[in-house]
Amino acid sequence: MALVLTNGTYYIATNEHGGIIKTLKMEDAQQFYNVNVAMKKIRKAPGKCKGYYVFDTDGDDKPSTGKKTKRKKYSEQERKMIYIRDDGRCALCGRKITLSEMTIDHIVPLDKNGEDSINNLQSACLACNRFKANIRPDDFMDRITTIFIYQMGKKYGGKISWKIAYKALENII
Ligand SMILES: [Zn+2]
Repeated sequence: MALVLTNGTYYIATNEHGGIIKTLKMEDAQQFYNVNVAMKKIRKAPGKCKGYYVFDTDGDDKPSTGKKTKRKKYSEQERKMIYIRDDGRCALCGRKITLSEMTIDHIVPLDKNGEDSINNLQSACLACNRFKANIRPDDFMDRITTIFIYQMGKKYGGKISWKIAYKALENII
């Protein structure tokens, strides 16, 4: 049995001075001979070991944080990957957002059998993510189109430019 500490992506290792470092390689991870010793390590450095848990490398399960909580906590590395791929924008409204403002949106929702993998994740600003969460996924596009048309009509309904745009939109929607 080899016990290591992982957050599903990184492993806890020690450098030559006994300090805690994080590594992507399981082989480099510090090994513990029982769970209590591993837990002691977490208790001693709760900040550095936040989000880490004891994992048996000889077990059948792959390291995963998604088991119990369903929705896993994304590592900073995963968040950065999504952020860069999505051009630092909310994928729903297109607004530029900072990495810390970014929330993670499931393109296909988890309860619709969407995966918790990068391919099914996109960046979203908090407002859009909350908005989307409260609307049935199948209705989302219809709903935002309806809202857009209605609000534009309320604001610019009398304007000829809106009447032209509306005519054009009618043909597409
Ligand atoms: Zn947005």
